[in-house]
Amino acid sequence: MRGISLIQVPTTLLAMVDSAIGGKTAVNHPKGKNLVGSFYQPSNVFIDPIFLETLSEREIRSGFSEIIKYGVISDRNLFEFLETKSLDKLMEEDIVGIITRCIAIKAQYVEKDEEDRKGIRAALNYGHTVGHAIENLTNNSFNHGEAVAVGMVAAAMLSERKDLISESTLRRICKLIEYHGLPTKLPSLVHDDILDVMHRDKKAERGYIRFVLPIGIGVEPLLQDIKDESIKQVLEKL
Ligand SMILES: [Zn+2]
Repeated sequence: MRGISLIQVPTTLLAMVDSAIGGKTAVNHPKGKNLVGSFYQPSNVFIDPIFLETLSEREIRSGFSEIIKYGVISDRNLFEFLETKSLDKLMEEDIVGIITRCIAIKAQYVEKDEEDRKGIRAALNYGHTVGHAIENLTNNSFNHGEAVAVGMVAAAMLSERKDLISESTLRRICKLIEYHGLPTKLPSLVHDDILDVMHRDKKAERGYIRFVLPIGIGVEPLLQDIKDESIKQVLEKL
């Protein structure tokens, strides 16, 4: 790869605030999203919010799922700002501020754990454990952000059951997701299928799945192995 200097120009909000930063490159495989990939850092990432004008409202809302994720795992101020401004009230400078903040948070995580080997970068997967399974099983009729939104609710419900967050914090997370026009309910899927996909994605042994569990708003989350049985109980309520 020597001599190749990759310049990235993200054209979706989701890429601008999240996937363009960090050098994770992957392709989807029939058995799952991003199953084949490697790390390769581009020499530059150019982000121009003008590309947002090319997107549908649904695609922009999808990007807000990752932005809410950053609020929960790292930035209380961002979370609280999002509680006061829905998409139609956001001005261009707000969007630029949000993108800048999310990039800074992502860069911090990536710098500490560039190749995702220390468990630090894993926090960025908040909402993605159940989210990827939903994306996979709905054949992308739930797009990435929508699936992650439901996944964030699932993980927050697990946290609440373990007393890592209060019921009011769980409600607050759900309310913010709904406020930004994103789903909080599981589409009709067979729960065992969701577990099967999660085990395959995580290459996990039967019995447990590693989850990113929020422990507050704007606080670095915990990684915990959760029993299949507990996950099923949450899926029943989701
Ligand atoms: Zn994502």
